Amino acid sequence: MDRSSNYLVTGGAGFIGSHLVDALLAHGHSVVVLDDLTTGRTENLAKAQQNPRLRFRRGSVLDAPLVDELVRECDVVVHLAAAVGVKLIVEQPLKSFITNTKGTENVIEAAQRHERRILVTSTSEIYGKNSSGPLNENSDRVLGSPSVARWSYSTAKAVDEIMAVLYHRERGLRSTVVRFFNTVGPRQSSAYGMVIPRFARQAVRGEPLTVHADGRQSRCFLHVSDAVAALLLLLEHPDAVGEIFNIGAADEISIRELAERVIARAGSVSALEHLSYDEAYGPGFEDMERRVPDTAKLRALTGWQPRHTLADVLADAIADARAELRGDRSAQVPSTPEQRLPTCGPVAGTALAGR
Ligand code: UDP
Repeated sequence: MDRSSNYLVTGGAGFIGSHLVDALLAHGHSVVVLDDLTTGRTENLAKAQQNPRLRFRRGSVLDAPLVDELVRECDVVVHLAAAVGVKLIVEQPLKSFITNTKGTENVIEAAQRHERRILVTSTSEIYGKNSSGPLNENSDRVLGSPSVARWSYSTAKAVDEIMAVLYHRERGLRSTVVRFFNTVGPRQSSAYGMVIPRFARQAVRGEPLTVHADGRQSRCFLHVSDAVAALLLLLEHPDAVGEIFNIGAADEISIRELAERVIARAGSVSALEHLSYDEAYGPGFEDMERRVPDTAKLRALTGWQPRHTLADVLADAIADARAELRGDRSAQVPSTPEQRLPTCGPVAGTALAGR
């Protein structure tokens, strides 16, 4: 990037958000993070906080006046704040739905009011149960009943996308939407259901790896650095405005094979333990057999290519799980006083809430 800008990153203390913040600071930009620290952690900003161009504000995207103030003060908004993770969404469907619709509405409306460029992050959950092979941005959404939490989450994110696209078409908002497929890397918590940090953690502890159903369902896992590289390319590209892009990896692997690869790479003695979806997530849970992204649109516009293999992804996840086991960092319970972060304006509360 040739010009430095002031970025607002909502959800910037989260997994993907904090890696994006590191990259933006490395490119010479100034960054304000808005995060309510429900799933985000100040530990994720340990590297970023050494940079004087970082400011942190603890708060929610549901706080419309706060969102308005922070959007007004920035040049570009990256909206990542959301309730994420299948486990969290199943456990807190209403809270997730409100955060993911009303919160995003606040951010998009503020960006519209102040005529700011905005990148809105969405999810491959948009495609629902469509397991028909590589999914492009126009592939069908195949959803079950909205009373199933997973599909209400998918619907909430679809509402976000619709707002971003219609505000662009009808009111000139400079918006881009991205749909993250399974993204993995350092700092990803194992607490909200994501399979690789869970398997890595189980393997380094010698615990059984909990494979859901028969483990034949498949996914493609992208290293978070490659996801962030895609975001930077799209933020720079004028033709990304008004468009939706998939971001994900091409290599497909079954969950059972993934479990075996994690055990082998970790040199672990763990066994596999099969759990039914009902046992894992409660009655009525639905999964998709396959989820494979078609990223031709992103590659054609920006030349993006993932640089990390699944082996790199697993090596990082296992190293992260080992660091957690040694107590190098607390992956579950936030412990760093947020006063250590350079804040902008008053901060609500002085200590981090535990989870
Ligand atoms: N999964 C699993 N064991 C776990 C966590 C997840 O077998 O401990 C499965 C899950 O049911 C799904 C796949 O791994 O089929 C990917 O799950 P994740 O929540 O990481 O991502 P998503 O379902 O959103 O693709």
